[in-house]
Amino acid sequence: MDSDKYSRLVTLLCPTCGNSLFEQSEDDENQEGMIHCPSCDRTMSKSELIRENGEVVDGAVDEMNDELLADAQKEVLEMLRNAFKGSKYIRIG
Ligand SMILES: [Zn+2]
Repeated sequence: MDSDKYSRLVTLLCPTCGNSLFEQSEDDENQEGMIHCPSCDRTMSKSELIRENGEVVDGAVDEMNDELLADAQKEVLEMLRNAFKGSKYIRIG
């Protein structure tokens, strides 16, 4: 999956001040980088930030489903086109 394609759909906001620009310190050892909000100086874990933004994330998941569905439909249509290639009696789309 192209994660960049989907991550742009989610704008996480600082639960304290609403700022959306965070500093992120990658810590691969515990798999959970800490997020620092430079605006209000709050530091929190990624999961905490995501939990605080539950509604935003849920909405983005809905959008993602739509996008995935559109991709799937395109793929199926393409498959059908290929399946019927060479036949002059059946036309798709
Ligand atoms: Zn903040």
